[in-house]
Amino acid sequence: MMKFADLIEENLEELATLDSLDAGKLFSLGKAIDIPGVISCLRYYAGAADKIHGRTLKMSREFQAYTLLEPIGVVGSIIPWNFPSTMFFIKASPALAAGCTVVMKPAEQTPLSALYYAHLAKMAGVPDGVLNVITGFGPTAGAAISSHMDIDMVSFTGSTEVGREIMKAAATSNLKPVALELGGKSPLLIFDDADIDMASDLALLGVLYNKGEICVAGSRVFVQEGIYDEFVKKLVEKAKAWPIGDPFDPQVRQGPQIDKAQFDKILRYIEHGMREGATLLTGGKPAERQGYYIEPTIFTDVKEDMLIVKDEIFGPVMALMKFKTIEEAIKSANNTRYGLAAGIVTKSLDVANTVSRSIRAGTIWINCYFAFGDDCPFGGCKMSGFGKDHGSEGLHKYLHTKSVVTPIYNSPW
Ligand code: NAD
Repeated sequence: MMKFADLIEENLEELATLDSLDAGKLFSLGKAIDIPGVISCLRYYAGAADKIHGRTLKMSREFQAYTLLEPIGVVGSIIPWNFPSTMFFIKASPALAAGCTVVMKPAEQTPLSALYYAHLAKMAGVPDGVLNVITGFGPTAGAAISSHMDIDMVSFTGSTEVGREIMKAAATSNLKPVALELGGKSPLLIFDDADIDMASDLALLGVLYNKGEICVAGSRVFVQEGIYDEFVKKLVEKAKAWPIGDPFDPQVRQGPQIDKAQFDKILRYIEHGMREGATLLTGGKPAERQGYYIEPTIFTDVKEDMLIVKDEIFGPVMALMKFKTIEEAIKSANNTRYGLAAGIVTKSLDVANTVSRSIRAGTIWINCYFAFGDDCPFGGCKMSGFGKDHGSEGLHKYLHTKSVVTPIYNSPW
């Protein structure tokens, strides 16, 4: 695994290029964040591989036991297109460290880096059959994995709808366990004492990073009434100046959406928002250039039952809301079927502590957003799924606990 990581480091630019070509992702970020993150993830779990151990238990006067943590077996991984490299290694690294073999299915839109990783794995000496990459479509290649009788577990990242299909297929085949990292509609709560400049930067980044095609996008932004008007002014100014264009241009901060289907879907949501009576503060249409580019779009005067507030749009579209009290903000933030992440901007420790304990989500970011780490468990609750990636939780889901029991002294058994 260490050798594999070294080879990825040697090929960093090629890999970042493949993800940009496939997914319209910014090359600068691929080079600075995605691929270095992959290398770090592999090294982190390589370091964990020889530190997997069970416990010794005293069962009774007669018996003692110990537990063995064994590889769960063959892991099928089905991953989405928005972070092709990150997703590959968030699944493959802990599974390999646990001693499992992996059948990885990248999304049909973004197979290139996955194939390159298979090639590098071979060069690194990963034995044949240990890390397998199968390209193909969801209902065929993906479903073959989730319904396979010889696959022992499925680790999935993708939409809530497909997550449900995977769980069904697992239930009707060999009852394999599943781990599901699904969609989100994450809230960002900005309180009156926030630095407006910092908060508006964070809010914009929260919804525009990776052109909004990110499961933890802060797509519902709640701003306290005392700073609301000034916040809106700054936010809109910055959104209008947000540079859109060629993902290989280092000045650009937003590339094209992944494909026509996603582009059309986002525009349909925008139209729906306008039809439902939300006020469009900026954006709302394709950017004036060839390709699947969409202007940063901010809606306000939204109601909590509107589709643009309820559904994951997976594009550069923000629903902005005003609140008075902390109780109101918590209630609205929790008014979602998802529970992936949330952000809080405040200088008050009391507010930060109260809100972070009151929101049902897998990750809470205080005065930051998109802060991920190899050691920090990631994954949602509610309809954002279950089963963490990263950290020791990410490793342990690929391990099976076996209890070995033995008499303490010569017993009649
Ligand atoms: P998707 O669910 O459409 O596809 C994900 C993967 O599942 C692809 O590889 C696809 O081929 C496969 N698939 C599709 N139908 C299948 C089936 N019937 N059986 C088995 N596999 C099938 O998701 P997407 O459009 O690629 O990605 C966007 C979604 O992923 C968003 O909802 C987003 O929130 C979610 N996502 C979640 C996280 C997270 O960590 N929670 C991270 C990234 C993306």
